[in-house]
Amino acid sequence: MPELPEVETITRQLNRKTKGLIIKDVWFGWVKLLRGRISQQEFKKTIINRTILGVNRQGKNIIINLSGGWSCLIHLKLTGRILVGSEEFIKQDPYIHFKLKLSNQTYLALSDLRKFARILLEKTDKVKDLKEIKELGLNPLAKDFTFKNFENSLNKKRRGKIKEVLLEQNIIAGIGNIYASEILWAAKVNPLKDVQELTLLEKKRIYQNIKKVLIKAVEFKGSTVADKMYQDTEGKFGNYASKLRAYHQEKCFRCKGQIKRIVQKGRSTFYCPKCQKE
Ligand SMILES: [Zn+2]
Repeated sequence: MPELPEVETITRQLNRKTKGLIIKDVWFGWVKLLRGRISQQEFKKTIINRTILGVNRQGKNIIINLSGGWSCLIHLKLTGRILVGSEEFIKQDPYIHFKLKLSNQTYLALSDLRKFARILLEKTDKVKDLKEIKELGLNPLAKDFTFKNFENSLNKKRRGKIKEVLLEQNIIAGIGNIYASEILWAAKVNPLKDVQELTLLEKKRIYQNIKKVLIKAVEFKGSTVADKMYQDTEGKFGNYASKLRAYHQEKCFRCKGQIKRIVQKGRSTFYCPKCQKE
């Protein structure tokens, strides 16, 4: 699933490529993609001839703000991709389920192999009240992601293993399975440790490495791992996979010991038992 660095990369590219353009046409190839109370027909009527004012990210959601006070939300879920380009470029992808034709003759298209992605249309001033947005925790790239706010957010959890807590979108928004393993490896914290048992020093290291790992991953345009699922809006792979130090690695980059894989709440966790002692 695309996580903060991948969704941030897509959002920045969308801003660069589509800001100021007008939506000329809409096409749906998969009915269930559109969620919420607005029908496909209403969706089309509402957004055709609107201008894209800008695109932002909230957690793993992409929000396209349109003229007339409307916003279009996209969540890529497991295998969603957004592509921007010419008709020929878009046609190369066999899993396109949604297309917007833009005023410069390019397309903004959604591809999704597994069909879990979703689109919502909402009034811009109501976006913050949507369940998906309202319940989001801290944004690690925002100015208010201070150590104090991070600690307060962690304290909302009475119990819970730190790896599992890092995945909870209402605590910190945007971290998924890849970066949770990477952050804890960098912070030298055992993923099985309960949040209430973390020392101040460990919390500080986790906080610092959330920022460090995610900022660096954005810089490298995200991670495309072995499944090759993640691609940016140009169909290019992210370059952070070569920087991964724990996730799906065999040897620890630091101590050369064996990386261990365990399953936590059905998801794989990778860590170094030597560097990340209990
Ligand atoms: Zn190690």
